[in-house]
This record gives sequence, structure tokens and C-alpha cells, in this order.
Amino acid sequence: SSVAAFQDLTDNLPDWVEAYRAYAAEGRVATYIPELAHAPQQALGITLHHKSGAVISAGDAGMPFTLQSISKVFTLLLALMDRGEKAVFEKVGMEPTGDVFNSMLKLELVQPGKPFNPLINAGAIVISSLIRGDSPEHKAERIVRFIRELAGDEGPSINEHVYRSEAETANRNRSLAYFLKDNKVLDEEVEPTLDVYFRQCAIEVTCAQVARMGLVLANDGADPFTGRELIPKRYVRIAKSFMVTCGMYNASGEFAIQVGIPAKSGVAGGILALVPGELGIGIIGPALNDKGNSTAGVHLLRLLSERYDWSMF
Ligand code: GLN
Repeated sequence: SSVAAFQDLTDNLPDWVEAYRAYAAEGRVATYIPELAHAPQQALGITLHHKSGAVISAGDAGMPFTLQSISKVFTLLLALMDRGEKAVFEKVGMEPTGDVFNSMLKLELVQPGKPFNPLINAGAIVISSLIRGDSPEHKAERIVRFIRELAGDEGPSINEHVYRSEAETANRNRSLAYFLKDNKVLDEEVEPTLDVYFRQCAIEVTCAQVARMGLVLANDGADPFTGRELIPKRYVRIAKSFMVTCGMYNASGEFAIQVGIPAKSGVAGGILALVPGELGIGIIGPALNDKGNSTAGVHLLRLLSERYDWSMF
């Protein structure tokens, strides 16, 4: 039962986290966004938030980190709520790529440059252009407010250092965006669109906030405690499907086999995961494996999934 599982977690999670820090040695902290390079290699933290209200945290769960690619799940949801399904999928596809997250390789393969899915950088940049608002600041503010609502916490806000650090160095994302613009997939101007994208990536959170966001998705978009609909169920289903097929980049297939739950990682080392109908999970472990996922974080999720039989498959 989930009560027994939570007792087992309470007894063991701190020890597991301490032991699993060792996996950080397999990975490396991302440095291509200079501000991310300062993150502590050995850090590992996790929060699980059960629908009963029970919350369990261990390790460095209080350490703030930026959402990075985890934000793509929430901008997809907000774009669907702002524009509807038809308008969104005129601009991005529904298929995994099997390529690294910032690849340009497949942008010339189908249609004129339509990105394969909304969780790779090219797709996420197009999605950022669909968020309603009068200016990049206004659009980013709406994204922050949406994140706060799902986190049930006014804490999440933009880390200006990380935002600037990425904006100043993002040659690859700039080239993706100009390519999309040239192909007329991106209707908005390049720089204001990228400005929204860099800000959403720099939203700073904790494991507890991410776990609460995951719990809303696990609960099909309804606030787990008031029952109020925060996101239409249909859109949550779309987001969870993308998390399973594309959420861990080009390791999504392996993750589906080893862990088997919807998840989304970010280059700061965060992972958002959820057990449908049960609980939300937030993890931070800045050292990344060769696919760009938190190495200790993925190992820890594999342990928990095996122990509690979480796999959806
Ligand atoms: N801001 C990051 C980028 O565009 C997000 C990518 C990631 O988290 N993998 O490079």
C-alpha cells in the first residue's frame, strides 16, 4: 500500500540519497551556460509529494536550481491553454527524434522545418512564441505565475544571473531560432521569442516545488487538495505522453524500460517525475550523464521504481 511505501521511504530515503551521491562521479555539471558551471557536482536531493498530502524530502532538496528544459512541459501546457491543440500542432510535431536536445539535424527533414516535438529546443522555442502576452517580460511573467500556481508556492522566480548568462552565450539556440524563422515556422521575431525562452529556462525552484507541480500532473490537472481544475485533463494527457516519449531526451526509451514513468529533465540537473494518480517527484543532481540527464537522479529513480513497482508498463 502507499502508506507502507511511505513508511519505507521515511526509513530509507536519506541513506539511499547519501549512497547515490557517488554516481555523480560518472557525470559532469553542464558548463555551456557559464552560470550553471558553479553547481556542486556531488549535490543530490529529492522530494516526493503524495496525493494524501504526505511530503518526504532527503539530501539537498532545499537547494535552488533552474528549471531549464523542465519548463518546456509547462510552456507546452500554457500554449495549449492559450491557443488550443490545433494551433499548437500546426507548429510542432508529436514524434521523438532520437537526437540530442539542441540538434538541428531533423529541421529540414519534414515539412518546412517543423520541429519534431515540443520538448526539444527547436520545438520549445516555437512554443515560447505561442504564449500570449504584450512583451517578452509579460509572457515570462505569465509563465512564472503558472509555475507558482502549480507549485502552490510564490517562491519560483527568474534567476537573473542564469537568464543573462544563457542569453549572452546562446549561439546554438539563436541559430535554431533563425532557422525556424527562415522556414516560417516561427511567426514572431527571433530575439523577443528567445528572450521568453531564456527566462522560462531560468525560473528557479526547489525539489518541493517541482514535486508539487508533478502532483498536479499526476492528478490530471486538478489541484490535489481543492479539486479545482488548473489544467484541462486532455492537455495534461498530451504533456505526460511527451514526457514518456521525449522527456529524457535521447535516453527516453531506456528510461521507459528502466523506470517507466513520465519524467522531464533539465540541464541544471533537475528532474520532474510523477506516478500517475499517486505522487509527484522533484529531484536535483547537477552532474549529468552523456545524454544530459542527472546521473544520480536517474539511478535514484530506477531504485525507487523497482522497489515500489512504479512502472506504467
Ligand atoms: N536552457 C537550456 C538550453 O536551451 C535548456 C536545455 C536543457 O535543459 N537541456 O540549452
